[in-house]
Amino acid sequence: MSEYIDHTYEDVENVFTQYIHNEKDLELIRHSYEYAKEKHAGQFRKSGQPYIIHLIEVAYLVSSLHGGPITIASAFLHDTIEDCGITKDDITNEFNSEIAEIVFSLTKIKALSHQRRHDPEFVADGHRKIFLGMAKDVRVIIIKLCDRLHNMRTLDFQTPEKKISISRETLDVYAPIADRLGFNEIKSELQDLCLKYLEPEAYSEIKNYLATKIKYKEESIQKLSKKIADMLIPTGIPFEILARVKHPYSIWKKMKNKNLTFDTIYDIVAIRVITETELNCYEILGLIHSNYTPLPGRFKDYIAVPKTNLYQSLHTTIIDHDSTIIEIQIRTKEMNDVAENGIAAHWRYKEGTKYDPKKEQQEIMEKLHWFSDFVNLSNNNSESSKEYMESLTKDIFGDNIYCFTPNGKVIDLPKGATPLDFAFKVHTKVGLCANGALVNSQLVPLSTELKTGDVVSIKTSSTENVNERWLKIVKTSSAKNIIRKNLAKKNAEFLREANIQKGKESLLDAFKEHNVPEGKFSSYMTNDLFSHFEMNSEDDFFIAVSNKTITPTSVIDYLGIRNESSLSSFIKKNTFEKASFSKQSVLVRGTPNILCTLSACCSPIPGDDIVGYVSQGKGVKVHRKDCPNIIKALNRTIEVEWNPNCTEIVAPIQLAIKATDRDSLIVDILNCLSQNKIPCTKIIAKNHTETHTVTINVTLNVKNFMQYNDIRNVLINIESVYSIERVTH
Ligand code: MN
Repeated sequence: MSEYIDHTYEDVENVFTQYIHNEKDLELIRHSYEYAKEKHAGQFRKSGQPYIIHLIEVAYLVSSLHGGPITIASAFLHDTIEDCGITKDDITNEFNSEIAEIVFSLTKIKALSHQRRHDPEFVADGHRKIFLGMAKDVRVIIIKLCDRLHNMRTLDFQTPEKKISISRETLDVYAPIADRLGFNEIKSELQDLCLKYLEPEAYSEIKNYLATKIKYKEESIQKLSKKIADMLIPTGIPFEILARVKHPYSIWKKMKNKNLTFDTIYDIVAIRVITETELNCYEILGLIHSNYTPLPGRFKDYIAVPKTNLYQSLHTTIIDHDSTIIEIQIRTKEMNDVAENGIAAHWRYKEGTKYDPKKEQQEIMEKLHWFSDFVNLSNNNSESSKEYMESLTKDIFGDNIYCFTPNGKVIDLPKGATPLDFAFKVHTKVGLCANGALVNSQLVPLSTELKTGDVVSIKTSSTENVNERWLKIVKTSSAKNIIRKNLAKKNAEFLREANIQKGKESLLDAFKEHNVPEGKFSSYMTNDLFSHFEMNSEDDFFIAVSNKTITPTSVIDYLGIRNESSLSSFIKKNTFEKASFSKQSVLVRGTPNILCTLSACCSPIPGDDIVGYVSQGKGVKVHRKDCPNIIKALNRTIEVEWNPNCTEIVAPIQLAIKATDRDSLIVDILNCLSQNKIPCTKIIAKNHTETHTVTINVTLNVKNFMQYNDIRNVLINIESVYSIERVTH
């Protein structure tokens, strides 16, 4: 294909000598190239080119990702076992066992591909899992992805059927793996090539749009980039501005999934601002948002919450002053590196450091898995989260085994897993109803340990068989969680009856307190009531009352029972002839002919702010508004007022007089009261010897608040008195 220029061995060398300098390593790579050239001599690709061109291209791609010497050598040798009659031992003898292992894995994966193409039942998901399971070494995956990319680039020379089937497989299996590992450049190119062969019309329409219409957009991008640069320069924040055009496949997918047209995809062209630190990213975002209007709902913070493939960036979409809508991505250099080359950024071969592929692979996998499983973990009930983490670690790092359903679907399980784990992986319902298993057509107990390649068929009954013993049989955390949940549900059913009864009783009690006879109770229990509280049945309603999701008070409030049985019926019962109440000191506002008495606890006097409390059968008790007893029961109060026509009130009032102790203090107080003509009906003094103070409680008869205030002012001026307060009980 003309858009790709074929490279030479020297081109590859120019790439890897930038980071590989060790003489032995350079010799190893050159030897692998020459060995491959010799073994593939006389072989040609469908394009008519010598086969070695393909190997050079794959090695070139691997070098561009900064692969180490072993990886590059393996790239050159990757097709030798398959195409040249070479054995794994031959490679071990000629090179080393590490390279032989990588090349052998790649050969096995190729066989898998062939199997898939001839078996329509072979599910893509299973293929991906087997691929990852077989490619135990991350270097195998990287070479395979580069191999596939070059094959896709040269797909034009294949038959029409092969174009479709290889593209389908690439889209189903390899692009998702590239995506999962964060190889975005490779992923995008693979997807675009697949689109070209699978949806040729859509592909050329999009290509055409990008080639023509985008020119017009480019101008506004340039203008906006300049404006952003002008805005950032004075701040001293380091930055670099790039424009990036969305890949055809992403555009196609967005149009298809969201039913969008070219004009409504705002991120076909985006501006990317690359800066130094995370803080810089947020600073730049702040500046942009304060100068341009952001489109609501379009801001995404992938720095705080990275994607599962480690992608980090801030995304926002703004409306420029000329109404162009443009997406802006803000990220650090490091984030950009990870965004483009994914784990390759972590994986890159660094000369001089001792490279341990196992450790490297584990670190990468750990990081990737950790992110995705963390999301699931946060939704989990934390009670068994420690155990969950442990078995999760086992699921990831323990060797996986791969078993099959009778239809050939692959189920991956941790080592030591049993048919019961298998059953739960197939479907929750299959797990719950499992009562036996056939492994390779043999009837076995559910606790049998499975091996890779086992074909497992689960026998089920029509009822659920879940029990405590199963927790000991299963190895996977997901199965354990389901079993635990179902056991809890079973227990809950025993408790259900008891809770219904408990809820009903507490409602009955509450109704009784509001004078609803037991016989009338059921007439209140209507569907109307249940649906108001969003309950489906009477039982659910009582359970909700029992576990306090619904309080009896809220039920009584909703039914309006309080008004009927207490306040309003009280007013009916206690309404008398007007005449006999004209001398009463306090009147109920609006209904003056109700018996009111002054409460003893706060002893209100005319002039105090007051409120009436509807008591059970004792009329209205009048309290001061600030009485602590009434503040607790504000829902049973009614408005009252002092009777302006009643001047003959004499109300008792209690005062606590505090003073430092001295001779004849009580005499002075009593003299003072009699001089001011205030009757005192009671006096109690209490000495506090340790502080030499005394508290004197006096009960006085006053006419109103003004008279109280006057006598208070006199009393406070008595020698050694320092405080006077009204007493409430
Ligand atoms: Mn190949």
